[in-house]
Amino acid sequence: MHLAKNLLTAMIGKLRLTNSLTRKKELFEPINPPEVGMYVCGPTVYSDVHLGNVRTFISFDIINRYLKFLGYKVRYVRNITDVGHLLDNGEDKISKKARLNKLEPMEIVQKYTNDFHSVMKIFNVLPPDIEPSAIGHLFEQVEMIETLLSKGFAYQANGSVYFDLTRYNKLYAYGKLSGRKIEDLINQSRTLEGQDDKKNPLDFALWKKAAPNHIMKWKTKWSDGFPGWHLECSVMSTKYLGTQFDIHGGGLDLKFPHHDCEIAQCLGASDKEPAKYWMHTNMLTVNGQKMSKSLGNAFLPWQLISGNHGMLDRGYSPMAIRFFMLQSHYASNLDFSNEALNGSVKGYTKLANGIRILKEIIYPKHDSLNVNAALINQINKICDDCHSAMDDDFNTALTIGHLFNLLKKVNSLYSKQIAFTDINKATFNRMKTTLLTFTEEILGIKPEKEINGHNLLNILLENYVEAKESKNYKKVDSLRQRLAEEGITVKDMKDSVGWAYNE
Ligand code: AMP
Ligand code: ZN
Repeated sequence: MHLAKNLLTAMIGKLRLTNSLTRKKELFEPINPPEVGMYVCGPTVYSDVHLGNVRTFISFDIINRYLKFLGYKVRYVRNITDVGHLLDNGEDKISKKARLNKLEPMEIVQKYTNDFHSVMKIFNVLPPDIEPSAIGHLFEQVEMIETLLSKGFAYQANGSVYFDLTRYNKLYAYGKLSGRKIEDLINQSRTLEGQDDKKNPLDFALWKKAAPNHIMKWKTKWSDGFPGWHLECSVMSTKYLGTQFDIHGGGLDLKFPHHDCEIAQCLGASDKEPAKYWMHTNMLTVNGQKMSKSLGNAFLPWQLISGNHGMLDRGYSPMAIRFFMLQSHYASNLDFSNEALNGSVKGYTKLANGIRILKEIIYPKHDSLNVNAALINQINKICDDCHSAMDDDFNTALTIGHLFNLLKKVNSLYSKQIAFTDINKATFNRMKTTLLTFTEEILGIKPEKEINGHNLLNILLENYVEAKESKNYKKVDSLRQRLAEEGITVKDMKDSVGWAYNE
């Protein structure tokens, strides 16, 4: 990020972001600049991530990229949840998958962690700086439970340890992030069953005694058991970012109870407010309903890429999908539809073509002395607008609009409607740098071949072979078209499928 160094001093101090804790858009003032600590709740690795999950991780990728572009020294921590995320019947999600597939839980964890990493790569999401896992931090979790017990914020009951919300609420206010009132929560939770060990139905588990048939359990002085889901994030954020850090993020659906519980645990353990800014991404929806595995309306990345799904007209390239996500602000709802995606394909293609042309244009050797000052002002203003849009709560939608305005100037130069003599070299260079930096480095939209190359090709070809074998000719045609868009011709041979790049 070469531009970052030059702009560092100028840029810091303008960024504003929406803080879920105060419900206000605030000036971003890190606790210890130029360092920035950001913790984001990562996936539970018990099955494939769906497009909704991908939206959240792309949103935080943009935030990570832009903070780094501004020159901040970001430590981005995104965890892997590999224990403690329970189903309504109390069974661990990973244990259940392991039981059904007759595999070790760690085989499930490894498989879906690997898959998650490939999906992130396909969508050009940069890896975090630290990716800690809950099982890897059991010792630290036990330590935090000890601290909470010693400070009177937790109690033991029948081999389990619970967070004591009654005690906590004498000093702090549970639910302040989500804005829920404790009285309402108590009324709602009275109907829940299986709360026998708890003093208060709202108390949540820090350590849970395992049932005899529970596979994932560890020996502690309390019982053979496992940690509560909320605990891992408090422990790992504290370990790697300190008791107070800058940004904590996650999807909106994690605000309550997960994030409110995290705040309670951290305040209880250290008497310090853990994160200065809480950021929440909004949901990807299908027909207005949250995309989720349990509702059965989830799309897996490879289904969308190959078009292998009943609701899809066709397949879409990962960069077009990334572009689709960035066309809305991270805090707005984004509804999935073929129409919206087709619109994004057009937009993405226009942007990609513009960038390709831009890379070909070379400013003449001699600088122009007879410039059009008004045009230069216009171009500089659009470049400034790109920065202001990102400074305004990472508004990618607005930024894309400004990038298209810049592209109009590029196209005019290319078609000679604007002469090189109209603008000086410095303006041309600024326009080029702004377009390239914002598109490729900040929005992470790069030529498909540079990101995915063979990876994408393999996904498409595997699906093509499968469609042929199952004699699904509609799918065969649609995949043939997708491959053609990637510049590839498929050759059907007697017992196999061959392919070649188009000339
Ligand atoms: P999970 O693996 O279920 O814990 O989810 C991983 C991340 O994806 C969390 O930050 C969730 O909030 C987020 N997420 C889940 N469903 C959606 C959705 N439909 N749209 C956007 N983000 C989602
Ligand atoms: Zn979390």
